[in-house]
Amino acid sequence: MKINSYIFRGYDIRGVVDKDLNEDIVEQIGKGYGSFLLKREIKDVVVGRDCRLSSKPYSRAIIRGILSTGVNVIDIGLALAGTTYWAQYHYKVKGCVSVSGSHNPTEYNGFKLGTGFSKTMVSKEIQELRSIIEKEDFSVGRGELKEEDIKEAYFEELLNRFSSLGLKVVIDPGFSTAGAFVPELLERAGCEVVRENCDIDGSFPLGAPDPTEKKVAQRLSKRILETGADIGISYDSDGDRIGVVDDKGGILWNDVLVGLFAINALEKSPGGKIVFNALCSNLVNDLIKEKGGVPVMWQTGHSFIKEKAQKEKALFAGELSGHFYFLDKFFPHDDGCYSSLELLNYLAKKKKNLSEIIKSFPKYISSPEIKIGCEDDEIKLKLMSDIGEALKKEFNKDEVIADERVGDGVRVEYKDRMFVIRYSQNAPYLTIKFEAKTRESYAFLRDYIRELLSRYEELDWDSKINVNIDALSSSS
Ligand SMILES: [Zn+2]
Repeated sequence: MKINSYIFRGYDIRGVVDKDLNEDIVEQIGKGYGSFLLKREIKDVVVGRDCRLSSKPYSRAIIRGILSTGVNVIDIGLALAGTTYWAQYHYKVKGCVSVSGSHNPTEYNGFKLGTGFSKTMVSKEIQELRSIIEKEDFSVGRGELKEEDIKEAYFEELLNRFSSLGLKVVIDPGFSTAGAFVPELLERAGCEVVRENCDIDGSFPLGAPDPTEKKVAQRLSKRILETGADIGISYDSDGDRIGVVDDKGGILWNDVLVGLFAINALEKSPGGKIVFNALCSNLVNDLIKEKGGVPVMWQTGHSFIKEKAQKEKALFAGELSGHFYFLDKFFPHDDGCYSSLELLNYLAKKKKNLSEIIKSFPKYISSPEIKIGCEDDEIKLKLMSDIGEALKKEFNKDEVIADERVGDGVRVEYKDRMFVIRYSQNAPYLTIKFEAKTRESYAFLRDYIRELLSRYEELDWDSKINVNIDALSSSS
């Protein structure tokens, strides 16, 4: 069977439904994954899926494939990625599959595949899986299938930690999976919940459920001002990421939350390490140092950050995209339900509004995370290396960070300015973020980056996958 090799990404499997993926291909992936696990003597897998239209048939197909290798499956049905990771501990099972295209539009789907408790595949393992599938080097056996409803047990775990929060919260998952879980969870934790687009509709009528998208944040902001809520939270389709708007309707990029969670962790354990991805604002660095912590910058991607945070024994790790890991308090994986509760609990404990808390943070004028389409993988790599070379020529060498801390791109830091350009390892786009201390510097960077990128014809400025590219226009 011919499988497009580019579905095997840096830390996920991702593809377009009916183009790169179909039930037969997904079944092969299941056979490959079961065989991969057996080589590690892992004989059980928990499988959860998001609400997109293709997820139910794909979940069935991957389960068929896994069972055919002799590995047992616990199917927990509709679930958030965090719930599926948690189920690994609950059932004492090292294998795990989350069927979801995450924040991508409905025509995408994908798989996060576990290699152990709170561990998902990184590049090397994904390539090993690819080779098993390409060689059809599959184990054969008959696994057992069990169906379980885990929601109550999972809620209980969280509600034992958080209760009587007493805040008014707008929840907007954009018709995706979190709508089936988060409103009830927060109500039971003592919040008043304003439900916004909480019905489940896997065609995503409002577009991709991407909590870093300005459009989503603006929607939340409007509802906060109308309802007088304390905070608004949005989710992506597998609910491992969140996006937040404060009580004044102010849009927060998630690096501000990385900073907030970092100081919260450091208040309890001074001197600890905090891991964050290279797209984060210097605000994160500043706050960690101010509180006497050790900042550890690392490359973007939930699998990489998760691995680095565990290796460094970090207190906390976070990414601009909204993946947060509370290693000092919870399991070392990302879970949007837990992140939401942590944040609400912090506000309740401090008895302060979010807008008040972040007022004292270092000030940077910061762009959102911008995504620009670049279809082909080889072109993307070549393009990134050309951009890197150009930046090394145009900037002083020691201002350009292009090592393992950034991984798949370049971070430039000079004067009061910072910008990052990197390629995504699991989707067809480049990611850009920039910031400065003053309006003038910000405008300078914005125009510089726009000019730099416009030198490369390979970039698709009209791609459907683009996010926040208006932040690069001179009127923004
Ligand atoms: Zn996600």
